[in-house]
Amino acid sequence: MTIDGVGFSSIGRLHLLQLLQERALAVGAELIFDTVVQSVDELADFDLIVASDGVNSVVRRGFEGDFGMSLSYLPNKFAWYGVETPFDTLTQTFVETAYGPFNAHHYRYTSTMSTFLVECARETWERAGFATMGEAESAQKCAEIFADTLGGKPLITNKSNWRNFPLMWNDRWSHLNMVLVGDALHTSHFSIGSGTRLALEDVIALVEALEAQPDDMPAALQAYEAARKPIVQKIVTAATSSARWYENFADHMKLSPLEFGYAYMIRSGRIDDDRLRKFAPGFMAKYEGQG
Ligand SMILES: Cc1cc2nc3c(=O)[nH]c(=O)nc-3n(C[C@H](O)[C@H](O)[C@H](O)COP(=O)(O)OP(=O)(O)OC[C@H]3O[C@@H](n4cnc5c(N)ncnc54)[C@H](O)[C@@H]3O)c2cc1C
Repeated sequence: MTIDGVGFSSIGRLHLLQLLQERALAVGAELIFDTVVQSVDELADFDLIVASDGVNSVVRRGFEGDFGMSLSYLPNKFAWYGVETPFDTLTQTFVETAYGPFNAHHYRYTSTMSTFLVECARETWERAGFATMGEAESAQKCAEIFADTLGGKPLITNKSNWRNFPLMWNDRWSHLNMVLVGDALHTSHFSIGSGTRLALEDVIALVEALEAQPDDMPAALQAYEAARKPIVQKIVTAATSSARWYENFADHMKLSPLEFGYAYMIRSGRIDDDRLRKFAPGFMAKYEGQG
């Protein structure tokens, strides 16, 4: 089933990081590599600490009560691989196996390489024996499950351990002279592909707030949270609705291809039929004309 109108753009992580490094150097930042901050105490001399240290943020972990952090895990298991095949754009493959159904999210990030993310229910994962397999064995088994889609190509690993997606949120975005951005602040399920965009937009909002009130940092940090939080909340809610759809993909697979495609498109709760008619007219004409 092809669904028209779904925008897609991508960039390899390494390339993005190189571009960001060049940009940071061009505006006079001093970049320090291969240095792990063990504790916030090491940063005592700085006016402002921007915690952009990812989902396991050391800065946040030292003050989780102050930030009002909450954490839970989604039940599905996923593992993240690469493959030397340029898939078209965002493609979803759903396969039935003796263990239960599996789903792969796959999309190109260069003209020769794609991301290949495998997801399944916990029970399916246990039946397939993944709980006791190492990284290489798991990759081989996933490649067998998706052999048709992969055209026999192997899956490439890079810390490709099976994980449960963490839903992490903070009620307060700053504490003293520390402020959270990106994955240190919130997670949003990979099925809507917005994590990097959210991280960059958080920082843009933070810079705008600091520039608007250069002499009053506490007020600027409050303004950052007030302006940005409602926007992020909406996207995180949409991402979580999307994630919940994947928890039931075995049931959705019982639908006809058109019904299945439609259920997929409205999964985040943000798209109604009118919007869908506008941006996916080809798909909607088929869907609405099927009866
Ligand atoms: C399976 C999966 C698929 C995804 N797919 C997409 C996608 O298609 N599109 C998308 O936009 N997003 C995607 N994401 C999300 C995306 O990867 C993150 O949202 C994004 O990288 C967050 O950026 P960040 O800068 O906040 O954190 P990170 O990218 O995690 O960067 C944190 C940085 O801090 C450094 N660091 C951490 N601790 C310390 C320390 N103590 N001292 C010094 N340095 C430290 C780390 O080395 C790292 O460089 C996906 C995530 C997952 C799990």
